[in-house]
Amino acid sequence: MAMRRNLLLQESQLLERFDRIRVWQQGDRRAVHKPLLVLLMLGRLARGESRARFDEIEDDLRRLLDQFGPASAAASRHNPFWHLRTDGLWALDGPSSIIGRPPAATPTLTEARTLTGSFAPDVLAALLKNSALIAQIAQRIVAGHFPESLQQDVLSAVGLEGTEAGADAASDRARRDPSFRPRVLLAYEYRCCVCRHDLRLDGQVVGLEAAHIRWVQAKGPDIEPNGLALCSLHHKLFDLGVFTVLPGQYMLVVSQHVTGSDEVRARLMGYHGAGIVLPQSRTSYPAAEFLAWHQGEVFKKPQREV
Ligand SMILES: [Zn+2]
Repeated sequence: MAMRRNLLLQESQLLERFDRIRVWQQGDRRAVHKPLLVLLMLGRLARGESRARFDEIEDDLRRLLDQFGPASAAASRHNPFWHLRTDGLWALDGPSSIIGRPPAATPTLTEARTLTGSFAPDVLAALLKNSALIAQIAQRIVAGHFPESLQQDVLSAVGLEGTEAGADAASDRARRDPSFRPRVLLAYEYRCCVCRHDLRLDGQVVGLEAAHIRWVQAKGPDIEPNGLALCSLHHKLFDLGVFTVLPGQYMLVVSQHVTGSDEVRARLMGYHGAGIVLPQSRTSYPAAEFLAWHQGEVFKKPQREV
């Protein structure tokens, strides 16, 4: 019995191993590649597929990085397929001339297409033994990397929709200062700083949210200069990097990646190049350091010409 216990990866050890990729690497920079690859593979595993050649999942991974990563993240889409090995999560199969290389010798995109990846044998055994862990780990990863407005979208995109943003999302909420929302909404006089939406139902404002400019997941503080009052639509578009606000000028600029019909023009493009509605007090103005983080880590560069 003792031997059997040693062979099985304990649940806590498994979670700890996945938690290694929750860390935000390189200081302020978002590290989205590994989390998105792991989520993609967890979604496949939930559907009974435990291995994948890189070229089988390449298009899906590119779409995920384009949608939920910073601009140009998809160009290095093959990197996590190789580097995930060093976290003890991942195993690779393929030509020994590539597999045998030292960890720093990242293969080219073409070489990566000859490789097959899967979770490491002990990780895979633990996940297959208790499939509820797949959803639990997926929730921890999205809660650690993405703002609440995007967490369900990310889970849906990897086929894990219906996975409730569970205990971890709740604990993230708990760590936030509950006064952040009312303070930010008051600062902006209860209206969206983009479209001035201020619909009220019996006096209560509806569909208006306090967005963190620098995400909570990236240690953005709960202070007014890190907040924007945004309607639900503009909040989601801001978190997706569809538009950003230029530091110092408070000018809204829209990504060149966005297209749409007249309706979209009215809801978004019409505000391109215009100033946002500023808070009533100068001390609440969005701070340049947080806007610069959003521009660098979230906004889908390049911006449209003004
Ligand atoms: Zn709005």
